[in-house]
Amino acid sequence: MVSSLLALPSTFSRLNLVQKSSIFIPFTFKALSLLKFHKQPRLRPFNYRLLHFPSSLNSPEAHFSTSRRPVSSKSFDVDLVVLGIETSCDDTAAAIVRGNGEILSQVVSSQADLLARYGGVAPKMAEEAHSQVIDQVVQDALDKASLTERELSAVAVTIGPGLSLCLRVGVQKARRVAGSFNLPIISVHHMEAHALVARLIEKELQFPFLALLISGGHNLLVLAHDLGHYTQLGTTIDDAIGEAFDKTAKWLGLDMRKSGGPAVEQLAQEGDAESVRFSIPMKQHKDCNFSYAGLKTQVKLAIASRNIDAKVPLSCASSLDRSSRADIAASFQRVAVLHLEERCERAVEWALKIEPSIKHLVVSGGVASNQYVRARLDQVVQKYSLQLVCPPPNLCTDNGVMIAWTGIENFRVGRYDPPPPANDPDDFMYDLRPRWPLGEEYAEGRSEARSLRRARVHPSLTSLVQASLQQQ
Ligand code: ADP
Ligand code: MG
Repeated sequence: MVSSLLALPSTFSRLNLVQKSSIFIPFTFKALSLLKFHKQPRLRPFNYRLLHFPSSLNSPEAHFSTSRRPVSSKSFDVDLVVLGIETSCDDTAAAIVRGNGEILSQVVSSQADLLARYGGVAPKMAEEAHSQVIDQVVQDALDKASLTERELSAVAVTIGPGLSLCLRVGVQKARRVAGSFNLPIISVHHMEAHALVARLIEKELQFPFLALLISGGHNLLVLAHDLGHYTQLGTTIDDAIGEAFDKTAKWLGLDMRKSGGPAVEQLAQEGDAESVRFSIPMKQHKDCNFSYAGLKTQVKLAIASRNIDAKVPLSCASSLDRSSRADIAASFQRVAVLHLEERCERAVEWALKIEPSIKHLVVSGGVASNQYVRARLDQVVQKYSLQLVCPPPNLCTDNGVMIAWTGIENFRVGRYDPPPPANDPDDFMYDLRPRWPLGEEYAEGRSEARSLRRARVHPSLTSLVQASLQQQ
């Protein structure tokens, strides 16, 4: 019975309840999975410790419960060692983090050269690039931490949102490692990870807090009530800000090898931010949603009207040409960030109404590496006596640390799945969630301008966690 359940596809204790609740009752499964842990001949001391965790945490229900009380003690935190794997887009990343937040290793293999060549992410090529390096990236993370798989406590992996082909590479690898070494596995929401990594660096950061998550594919304002519980205040109706930075860099003929954002930020320092009058998106919409497609078009038109030739690299441009490109970069950056500022102000007001105790705005995701973004948003939060929390740049862009850390946060409250079988069958259906909201939309904030496609969207992380809590 246990083995037949374990042979079934995908993970579920944390996330799959809505899809599979008619077949699997989580507690039954959780109790069975605990049995499996008991039976394993290769149990390492860590798992025993978990099973014998003090007092009330000793029963299967308590052990797997989604109670919010953190399972935490100094020795528990030090002994908990989690491998995090991230392949949702164009970075292949792995890291090993201890339960106390100590980062033992961090490895990122970037596909920036592909991005530079094609000006965007091509899923099939990105998948191949992930497949080529994933084993090495994970091995390097282990080597840098001076650990073997046997010394890990669990494996955390991004299952969405992102590109299916890319997510699959990471999930396959995570399951191979977890299955071969009898490790629990934790399914991670990529955007939750961007938000929660702030709690690794800022230990004072408690729920609830407001988060602005800005990257190449996402532009989200969420109110984080608790682990696994988010209200979406705003999202983009078309492109994300990082995409606008990347296209601006490409059309300005900048060096994209470190992605477009840093190149635009650097050139913007030379330019006059008031020189090109771009209009601020969505001024007439009094909500917290974003739009960057129109600004991209404005930038494209401004570049065309100044006869800037993207084929001429910046290093070869005349000084007049260079300063004209710098003016566009600076003006674009100013307006792109003004749009963020405006939405954040409104979001802070909404958030204070819903959760008056919030004290922090977390800004994370690749674009949060931008110093101008940080400085401007710092001014916004100061008006409301809130504190801005931005992870360091290498934890803002996609990385394995945030996945491992989110795994740790979930593991502590019992949200994880038992070790998968050592080998998945060839026709195994992986649980991947390419389009997966973090939380439900804030009803009062729903915009008429929203035209998001709703097809094939997974139930939000929040709704799944809430369903799981209700079933207990
Ligand atoms: P993804 O978008 O794949 O989730 P990341 O979270 O790593 O990935 O974010 C990458 C995005 O962040 C890219 O669009 C990149 O241009 C942008 N970015 C990175 N650094 C900066 C910066 N300094 N300024 C503006 N944008 C940046
Ligand atoms: Mg990201």
